Amino acid sequence: MDQDQAFLPPGLAGEEYRAHVRAWLAAHVPAGFLADQADHQAPDLDACRAWEAAMHRGGLAGITWPQAYGGHGLTLREHLIANQEIGRLALPESVNSLGKELAGPIILAIGSEEQKRRYLPPLLEMREIWCQGFSEPNAGSDLAGLRTRATRDGSVWRVNGRKIWTSGAPNAQRCLLLARTGPIEDRHRGLALFAMRMDAPGVTVRPLRQMDGREHFAEVFIDDVVIEADDALGAPDQGWSAAVRVLAIERATNRMYRAWRFENELHHLVRACRLDATLAALIESGTYHRRLAETVVDIDIIKAYVEPVVERLMAGESIGDRGSLMKLHWSEAHQRFAALALELLEQAPPGAAPEVQAARARFQRLYLAARAETIYAGTTEIQLGIIGDRILGLPRERARGGR
Ligand SMILES: Cc1cc2nc3c(=O)[nH]c(=O)nc-3n(C[C@H](O)[C@H](O)[C@H](O)COP(=O)(O)OP(=O)(O)OC[C@H]3O[C@@H](n4cnc5c(N)ncnc54)[C@H](O)[C@@H]3O)c2cc1C
Repeated sequence: MDQDQAFLPPGLAGEEYRAHVRAWLAAHVPAGFLADQADHQAPDLDACRAWEAAMHRGGLAGITWPQAYGGHGLTLREHLIANQEIGRLALPESVNSLGKELAGPIILAIGSEEQKRRYLPPLLEMREIWCQGFSEPNAGSDLAGLRTRATRDGSVWRVNGRKIWTSGAPNAQRCLLLARTGPIEDRHRGLALFAMRMDAPGVTVRPLRQMDGREHFAEVFIDDVVIEADDALGAPDQGWSAAVRVLAIERATNRMYRAWRFENELHHLVRACRLDATLAALIESGTYHRRLAETVVDIDIIKAYVEPVVERLMAGESIGDRGSLMKLHWSEAHQRFAALALELLEQAPPGAAPEVQAARARFQRLYLAARAETIYAGTTEIQLGIIGDRILGLPRERARGGR
């Protein structure tokens, strides 16, 4: 048996499970993967794919999914523990997070038995990467304004439209597509979700260059694309409620390791600053000292949010609109921290130690990536609107529906 398939002795729980995950990661993380280590080299797509497939064989993907669909049949508590351990390490972000954290959960919730068996194992084994086709040029925050149309044509659907900001589309095999089956005036009604093949005739992906030079997201043109009936997820009118569930998951449970990764970043920053006399003096001075201390508080707030969410979900409660609190706090705090880290490291003198220069390169990338964090999965203004309207019950200020 492959060494990483021998991962999960049955019945491990709590701290024993944590020790096992930690030991597995220590033994299997490929050389050069960790962004806070001297030997770091950003891995390419094939290396990320191979690593994530190994993580799945090692028990670290699909942790809560039923074994019948390639999962490991454990609970959200183990999912949280594994995420805490994954977060402690400066690992690359998943190249299939939209599959594992959005498409998978929604397929488990509304897919047929046949669809679960067909889509979920290839997704976990990294044979199929998924992207999320929701946003359109005129439908971002106001998602209910989307115009991509799916028309029934005998036994199949024909789809026409255009999606934008589709993360991971250049590498994806499937797209979780939200399309309109009813009139545009119906807005929330008459929307449907599909599992569209990205290699279907009529799908054209045009990568968009981001400010960090990567081409991670894309425009997706959909011209008379035929989607088989058994690639429609749920009933045609279930599309909006399913989409809202997808977005609630995206805000509340997606990347559960965030607080622990954030802590890894903070410790890396402090370690790097201590290696340089100029930076060491700066972080001991009043203003940076205080701002670093505030970051500790921000991280603890995120941790204090995640742990009860797990308990509530395990008790069968839904998180609903409260997912907005987490999304808002994490994205705003992380963006503030990324700016602080860059501000500090830019003050390193020429000829600073290689570790300091490597940290500066990491935090430059982080700074650029964090600019998007207050936009995707619903902007800061939309989260504030949801909190005001739906949690506080204030009269609606917004004219439009809001993502
Ligand atoms: C890095 C990145 C990755 C992304 N990946 C994906 C993906 O994989 N799939 C996908 O479908 N989408 C993706 N998106 C798109 C993302 O969901 C949208 O950008 C987001 O929902 C905002 O929509 P918009 O860009 O159309 O901006 P708009 O909705 O046009 O908003 C513009 C501005 O107006 C404000 N605003 C809008 N409506 C209101 C209101 N009612 N009240 C107050 N203020 C308002 C917004 O807060 C924002 O500041 C991604 C975006 C980014 C940046």
